[in-house]
Amino acid sequence: MKKIILPLILFSNMSHAFVLLNPAYKLHDATNAQVKVSAEGCIANGVSDAEIVEGIRYAIEFWNDVPESRLKLKYGGKSSATLTDPRIPKNEIIVGCGTLPSLQILGATQHDRGNGSARVLMNEAVYTGSYNKNSFIGTMTHEIGHGVGLYHSKDPASVMTYSPHEWVDIPKYISQDDIDGVVYLYPNEKVAAGFLGSCSSFASDGPTGFNFYQDILFGFFAMFGVVFFVRKGLGFLSQKINWTLKR
Ligand SMILES: [Zn+2]
Repeated sequence: MKKIILPLILFSNMSHAFVLLNPAYKLHDATNAQVKVSAEGCIANGVSDAEIVEGIRYAIEFWNDVPESRLKLKYGGKSSATLTDPRIPKNEIIVGCGTLPSLQILGATQHDRGNGSARVLMNEAVYTGSYNKNSFIGTMTHEIGHGVGLYHSKDPASVMTYSPHEWVDIPKYISQDDIDGVVYLYPNEKVAAGFLGSCSSFASDGPTGFNFYQDILFGFFAMFGVVFFVRKGLGFLSQKINWTLKR
């Protein structure tokens, strides 16, 4: 009996782990939000618009894979806005390369709460001359998750985790925790009515809504996270099993 209880406890610890960036931020219209290449893109850094679009399309397919949510991101082509414009056009997430203060930061996301929009900066210092397709796409998928309104998750299956995790560079499927977050933010009322839990976890993004969320060493964890997680997870499980058997 105790052996059956163990996995249930593990799952229950993971549920509702998603954290929202700020209760005041959402995309203006989740059904029609557009993800665009910023006016400058990453061309100056040796990454083509086509390579950014590949990442955007992967992220869109990833985040749209939630039937219980009305979130339906669309690829919107090239934006007229640059990453340094004071405002981000309504209902857009624009993606390009920009300057970030450290080589250890792969990407960062910034909201324009008033316009229900966001900008994603891929760190030009990281990708210039050393573009890695999988790392680029994985980081972009994570940053667009911030653009949707999610903060970091403690679920190791989530693309929003900031800890050692179960996947390498690019998550292959959206985790239950990511799904819970998207459904909480943008429920499809017809499907999800009466089905939702509540979330009391919020990460403050400051009074202006223009603070950055910088992702330090996200790529490092993407490369080595599996090893850490497996070692840690096996150790933890064997301890629990020993404990269960002794009892
Ligand atoms: Zn992040």
